[in-house]
Amino acid sequence: MRVLLIGSGGREHALAWALAKSPKLEKLFVAPGNAGTAKVAENVALDPNDHTAVLDFVRSQNIDFVVIGPDAQVVAGLGDDVRAIGIPCFGPSKQAAQLEGSKSFTKALCDEMGIPTAAYAKFEAEAPALAYVREQGAPIVIKADGLALGKGVTVAMTLEEAEAAIRDCFAGAFGASGAEVVIEEFLEGEEVSVFVLCDGVNSLPLATAQDHKRAFDGDKGPNTGGMGAYSPAPVMTPELMDRTLTEIIAPTISGMAARGTPYQGVLFAGLMLTQDGPKLIEYNARFGDPETQVLMMRLKSDLLDLLLATATGQLAGHTAEWDPRTALTVVLASRGYPGSYRKGTEIRGAESLDTDALRVFHAGTRRDGERLLAIGGRVLNVTALGSSVEEAQERAYRAVDAIDWPDGFSRRDIGWRAIARTRA
Ligand code: AMP
Repeated sequence: MRVLLIGSGGREHALAWALAKSPKLEKLFVAPGNAGTAKVAENVALDPNDHTAVLDFVRSQNIDFVVIGPDAQVVAGLGDDVRAIGIPCFGPSKQAAQLEGSKSFTKALCDEMGIPTAAYAKFEAEAPALAYVREQGAPIVIKADGLALGKGVTVAMTLEEAEAAIRDCFAGAFGASGAEVVIEEFLEGEEVSVFVLCDGVNSLPLATAQDHKRAFDGDKGPNTGGMGAYSPAPVMTPELMDRTLTEIIAPTISGMAARGTPYQGVLFAGLMLTQDGPKLIEYNARFGDPETQVLMMRLKSDLLDLLLATATGQLAGHTAEWDPRTALTVVLASRGYPGSYRKGTEIRGAESLDTDALRVFHAGTRRDGERLLAIGGRVLNVTALGSSVEEAQERAYRAVDAIDWPDGFSRRDIGWRAIARTRA
């Protein structure tokens, strides 16, 4: 098969690496890709937001299958445009991607299907929203309705913070995404991510993971796209997984099908494990970054087979085989991220580290002759396997320490929750 993968992050390098192992693959293109994807595929200088250019490439290169990595292209409906020219595409329809693109859409589905989630109210004007939080008190959670690059959510520990967040949303801090505000009950517990492939009717649970959103050790500092992850998440017991699949995932799939917008793609559920059981925090309509890096490190089945079966409604009978070991990834980011940072700084020693138990996935990298340059916020994902979270963590940080990049930084405590649990 001739396959086109859309995206340029660490998620896409991990997907490209896994796709490249498939015996069914004839040729893999990544648009636009990074210095890492160039080692396992051919990068194409295409703007994935230019749907016409993508479709022209698909036609001219006789592409058989398109895989969309990032949320932006999923939510913009690139998948629909690819399918409209008769080519299968991994990535849900624009309609189904509202599960990620609109918090109020997902909340309404939860109400309709009895899916456990935080109690909420929705507002289109500032005054009633302010009155509501004053009545409810803190802690409370304020969310801009649409996509806001992960920045539209404020977990307000005080009433003052909640009021400020509401004023920001209605003052246009998140553009059109803040025209509607969802205010939610604060859920207490541990967060976990669950990934499930859905072909519209059938589903295949993949694996669990935990990520680390804050920039600095001890979960301090600003929110980021994700500074590290590990899989599986030991907090997710088989019993909790069963409850998640029956109480959350199954009614989502049947509810979406009943609405005439069947969900075909990967459903990435962000859950809070509360005292009353798993509750849905949010859905994403694509793979997570950096969770995909740990998932792909553990996946033993043919990824191309699984994604194609998902996209063509033929998932029934498929299984996914996993390495039982833990995979852990540490993100190396440009110093200053998620704020401003220098571009074009040189990284040394990152390219001779790969073994069976260690891979360095690239994100914001570019090659300049022999040199490897950092051109983004999140730059490398040092990903290790180990027989325990501790062993995977040790192996990953040994490799991190071997990388010479004075302009980069990483957290030093990825995996701390799981390690604390084992020690307890
Ligand atoms: P979201 O973009 O909806 O995933 O929210 C971003 C982050 O905010 C989540 O990963 C949680 O850490 C936190 N969060 C969101 N909703 C809640 C909630 N209802 N209670 C507690 N924390 C929340």
